[in-house]
Amino acid sequence: MEITQTLPSIPFFNYPHVFTSDESQLIEVIRDVGRRGAFILQQDLDEFERRLAAYVQVDYALGVANGTDAMMIALRAAEIGAGDEVILCSHTYVATAAAIHFVGARPIPVECGSDHLIDPAAVEAAVTGKTRAIMPTQLNGRTCDMHVLGAIAERHKLTIIEDAAQALGSRFHGRAAGTFGAAGTFSFYPAKTLGSLGDGGAILTNNEDMFQQMFQFRDHGRNRDGEVVGWGLNSRLDNLQAAILNVKLRGYDADVARRREIASIYQTRLVEMSELALPPGPEDDPDHFDVYQNYEIEADHRDELREFLRSRGIGTLVQWGGKAVHQLEGLGFRQRLPFTEAMIARSLLLPMNTSLSDGDVDDICEMIQHFYACETSYD
Ligand SMILES: *Cc1c(COP(=O)(O)O)cnc(C)c1O
Repeated sequence: MEITQTLPSIPFFNYPHVFTSDESQLIEVIRDVGRRGAFILQQDLDEFERRLAAYVQVDYALGVANGTDAMMIALRAAEIGAGDEVILCSHTYVATAAAIHFVGARPIPVECGSDHLIDPAAVEAAVTGKTRAIMPTQLNGRTCDMHVLGAIAERHKLTIIEDAAQALGSRFHGRAAGTFGAAGTFSFYPAKTLGSLGDGGAILTNNEDMFQQMFQFRDHGRNRDGEVVGWGLNSRLDNLQAAILNVKLRGYDADVARRREIASIYQTRLVEMSELALPPGPEDDPDHFDVYQNYEIEADHRDELREFLRSRGIGTLVQWGGKAVHQLEGLGFRQRLPFTEAMIARSLLLPMNTSLSDGDVDDICEMIQHFYACETSYD
């Protein structure tokens, strides 16, 4: 195969594009919010919360400072704390475990399945007398089998809090991620499918009591009249970020559609390669609607492939720095989860974002094919 003379330059994630893709509208919004002096708990945040709740069809949405706070506040409102165990998937961001840790409970990481989502059998096996909650991560924009997890939770009287940081708009049997449990949490970190120009997060719930608790807790324990009625902290979503997210939410369905198109190109171009395992394609399973926060593949000779692509101008990412939660020995975990460990060693994220052209995705696929054609000596 012949390589074209000009190498592509495709970063794993194009941060400036979060701004430049909507630049004139965002400048308008920043000017408007600034001139109104509307910085904290203002109408743009109210509007964003209303629209977000409507988008996923829940009663309440609450904007908070980031996705990690969102999880911690939700766990706290569900009265999970000291002495409790919470089961999570080891293949998640450390933030999921940290939120559990910071409400005083103990995070219990378990195996994922071949779909890279929490393995329901492993959840069931990890339940003890101290288990109070399951915290599934709706990873890479795909929703877990919430019917099976719901049945386990019901059998053992456990609360479900979803870490849906990567899954806004993702659906399982037509129902949105973040709406299956007592609460669901989201992150608007710039590289997320709905990205702000900084940090941001939200909590969704249909439970009015939990909502009131969380509403107060994110703003110094104050109720709607500004009266302090309990302990709280400051974890408000900036009104300016909310105004920015209102712009982004308008284009969100189109962004998701584009991500699904990109996934479909990867699928078509790479599906025959025996050296790779791909995530499910967008049309593979009518029970799932995936939003492709990430396109996580498993690859033979992952590190060599990554270096080959890097040297040819293509950025990729090894998620979570190449470690599952239970492998973070500095946090005190001493555990072996062989399936997850083997998967993590092969896991690679290919570029997946709305700044990619079809040609970029073709270039990436071509380089991957070229790598394995060259590297037959490995096998
Ligand atoms: C991004 C992310 C978080 C944390 O969100 P922040 O807004 O960065 O605090 C938590 N869990 C998962 C799975 C994430 O991808």
